[in-house]
Amino acid sequence: MVQAGGASELIKVGVVGAKGRMGRQVVQTVQDSTTCELTAAIDQGEDLSLLDDCDVIVDFTNPDVVMATLEHCIGHGVHCVVGTTGFDETRLEQLRTWLADAPDVSVIVAPNFGIGAVLMMQFAQAAAPYFESVEIIELHHPDKVDAPSGTARRTAELIAQSRAEHGLAASPDATTQEIPGARGADLEGIRVHSVRARGLVAHQEVILGGLGETLTIRHDSMDRSSFMPGVLLAVEKVAQHPGLTVGLDSFLS
Ligand code: NAD
Repeated sequence: MVQAGGASELIKVGVVGAKGRMGRQVVQTVQDSTTCELTAAIDQGEDLSLLDDCDVIVDFTNPDVVMATLEHCIGHGVHCVVGTTGFDETRLEQLRTWLADAPDVSVIVAPNFGIGAVLMMQFAQAAAPYFESVEIIELHHPDKVDAPSGTARRTAELIAQSRAEHGLAASPDATTQEIPGARGADLEGIRVHSVRARGLVAHQEVILGGLGETLTIRHDSMDRSSFMPGVLLAVEKVAQHPGLTVGLDSFLS
């Protein structure tokens, strides 16, 4: 944490889900960083009170347990950087309610900490008004428990918003006979298809279609290290953004 006089103090970071695939990377990143120190690293079955001395926690666990951790940390004045996915509007509203009683606490929920993924979402949002059709294909490793991915949900939300602002109708689709699921999930009018296969990490394509042309915007995370610069940025900046922030975008400028 950089102080007014120029002297700097390390940010005390707690990692929740520290034994998981993402959590292990975050522990290493915090240990290697020059701005943070690892104050706590907890996993399933460990006491949340171990996080109480932290300035910031980073949570990469799973959708079933993340809310209890966030309620605890917000109640104890600890800022939260949340990578765990599965956040819908109901969950975000619950966070806003808890934060209303803790005005000094900041929370960022980012479905994707990859800088390239954030840009992919911005490009898709920018392109959305110019194309009649749009669909999303997200591809992940088969150990992922939620579908569609948080990134796909967020991308669909941004595209839907952009289409609505520009008065676009629903994407054309003449399907009248369908095996359930064949056309993917419907997220705010955008079709989202989820692929799960061994060997994949995290990938997404946004396919936009117009008269006689298509535009495909694709992002690939080859390795979980791709998320770490974004996680570190969020840890360093979260305290400067009171309340709830969704997506890493506003921390990039
Ligand atoms: P993982 O299963 O490898 O790790 C989850 C860890 O959380 C495990 O070690 C598990 O024991 C631990 N855990 C479970 N319950 C807990 C509890 N109550 N308290 C503390 N720890 C607990 O999963 P992963 O691949 O590391 O992914 C974790 C989450 O991050 C998922 O929701 C995934 O979708 C998401 N993710 C987000 C991004 C992003 O950029 N936002 C990137 C990759 C993955």
